[in-house]
Amino acid sequence: MWHILGAGSLGTLWATRLARVGLPVQLILRDAERLNSYEQAGGLTLVEGDRVQRYPVAAQTADHPQPIQRLLVACKAYDAAQAVAQLAHRLQPGAELLLLQNGLGSQDEVARAVPQARCICVSSTEGAFRQADFQVVWAGHGHNWLGDPLRPEPPAWLADLQRAGIAHDWSPDILGRLWRKLALNCAINPLTVLYDCRNGALLDHAEQLAQLCHELSLLLNGCNQASAADGLYADVRRVVEATAANYSSMHQDVAQARRTEITYLLGYACRAAQQQRLHLPHLQALHAQLVAHLVARGLPSH
Ligand code: NAP
Repeated sequence: MWHILGAGSLGTLWATRLARVGLPVQLILRDAERLNSYEQAGGLTLVEGDRVQRYPVAAQTADHPQPIQRLLVACKAYDAAQAVAQLAHRLQPGAELLLLQNGLGSQDEVARAVPQARCICVSSTEGAFRQADFQVVWAGHGHNWLGDPLRPEPPAWLADLQRAGIAHDWSPDILGRLWRKLALNCAINPLTVLYDCRNGALLDHAEQLAQLCHELSLLLNGCNQASAADGLYADVRRVVEATAANYSSMHQDVAQARRTEITYLLGYACRAAQQQRLHLPHLQALHAQLVAHLVARGLPSH
C-alpha cells in the first residue's frame, strides 16, 4: 500500500500514476473537512495536455487506524515534519518514507520526528501545478532521483515506480544532488523575485549570477560537497537559458501571495555558511533583501 500524505501538485501526480496501473493507494488528507471536499470532488483529476482524467483514489485522515508501511510525503518543506509526526504512531517497524521536499533541512526535521523510519530523499525535476482543488496539471515531464544517505541499498518497490511510468533512478549520492539543486535554486529564484522577472532575464545580470555562484561553490566545498560545486556557474547559465520563458517556483509563490520555502533554500544555505564560518557577503545580502521583500508583501519570511 502506498500512503500519500498531501493531495497537492506532486501528491496528485504520484497518486494518480500509481493508482492507474492498479497499485493500492491511500491519500491522507489534512482533516475531515478536506476529506469531505475530496469526496464531493469525486477523486483526483490529472490534466495531461488535452487528456483530463479523474481517478477515485481512496482517502482518509491522519487519525485513521490503518498501519503505514510506505509513506510518500508530498507536503511543502515547512509542513513536512509536523504532518509526519501526526502519523508516527501508525508507522510499522521498517516503515519507509519518501521525501519529495525541495531544498534541504526538512529531511532532517522529518528524520528527527520519526527516528524509527527509513527516510528516502527524492530530488525531482517534474513539474505540476494545482488548477483547482484536487485538480492538477502535469506541466513538465521530468525525472526523479531517489536515495538514502544512510543506506545504499535500493528498496524493492522501485519496481512499482517502473510499472507506473514514474521516471526514476536510484542515486548513490542523493545529498550531492539535493545540494546542487539547492545551489541552482539559490542563484536563480531569489533574483527572479527581486527583479520580478522570468528566468531568462537574469542573463542581463550575469555578473551578479557569477558572484553568487562563486560564493555558493565555496559553501558547497566547505560542506564536503565538492562535486556539487563543479561547473556550477555554467550549469546556472544553462538552466536560465533552457527555462528562459518560465517564472521560477519562488516567483510564482510570491506572485500568488503564497508562503515560499525560503527557509529550506537560501535560508538553509546562509545558516550552513554561518556554521562553516564562511563569509559570503553576496549570499547574505541576497537573503536579507529577499526577507525584506517578503515582509513588505506581508508574506512569512521563514
Ligand atoms: P502543494 O501543491 O502546495 O501541495 C502540498 C499539499 O500538502 C497540499 O495539498 C496540502 O494540503 C498538503 N498538506 C500540508 N499539510 C498537511 C497535513 N498536515 N496533512 C495532510 N496534507 C497536508 O505543493 P507541491 O507543489 O506538491 O510541493 C510539494 C513539495 O514538492 C515542495 O517541497 C516542492 O518544492 C516540491 N516540488 C514541487 C514540484 C512541483 O512541480 N509542484 C516540483 C519539484 C519539487 P491542503 O490542500 O489541504 O492545503
